[in-house]
Amino acid sequence: MLEALSRELCGTSLPPLSGNIYCVGRNYAAHAKELQNEIPQEPVIFLKAPAALRAWHSGPLAFAEEQFHHEVELVLLIGNHIDRNGEARLEDITAMSLGIDLTRRGVQSELKVKGLPWGIAKSFAGAGILSPFSPVNNHILTTNIGFELLVNNELRQSGETRNMIFGFTAMLRYLLIHQDLYPGDIVFTGTPQGVGGLHKGDRIHGRSRQLGIDIKGVL
Ligand code: ZN
Repeated sequence: MLEALSRELCGTSLPPLSGNIYCVGRNYAAHAKELQNEIPQEPVIFLKAPAALRAWHSGPLAFAEEQFHHEVELVLLIGNHIDRNGEARLEDITAMSLGIDLTRRGVQSELKVKGLPWGIAKSFAGAGILSPFSPVNNHILTTNIGFELLVNNELRQSGETRNMIFGFTAMLRYLLIHQDLYPGDIVFTGTPQGVGGLHKGDRIHGRSRQLGIDIKGVL
């Protein structure tokens, strides 16, 4: 399953997906605030299972008739093997995708209150929606990248990388304290403010001018 998805999203010139999916939470201050979370001192990391990934246009993406929350995010594709404690460089980011970290917010809130891990709120069929990866270079990675999400033609979220709390290399450096990174690893880099409800059948449209990504799908 991952092999077919890799071919679709990474083509033949980029590393295929390794199946390691890291996500950074609360990386935009205005989003941390809207969920009444504290601004983190170090990156908040959680994971998704590879089985959660779907291509944006492969809809329908929702696995149930319930309310999900959309979190539009830039997603990094790692191009090199970097040893734990190694130096993370922008050159290690080989491509980027525009993704949605689809979230079962109600389930997450209930589990949080109980002090339990909220894995099933963030990892389920369709929880990681990805556009095809677009190759990047240092010039693109150091510009202020804008990205947005429209739902049923209405602008819901609009983000700019200059508002990230932890930049790309800072989040990789933090991951590298704990493990190696491998070619094909991906990193969801956090969502800007404006997260909100999504229902089965909603039309989703993501775009980023700098990355040349403009993609539509149906939840
Ligand atoms: Zn997220």
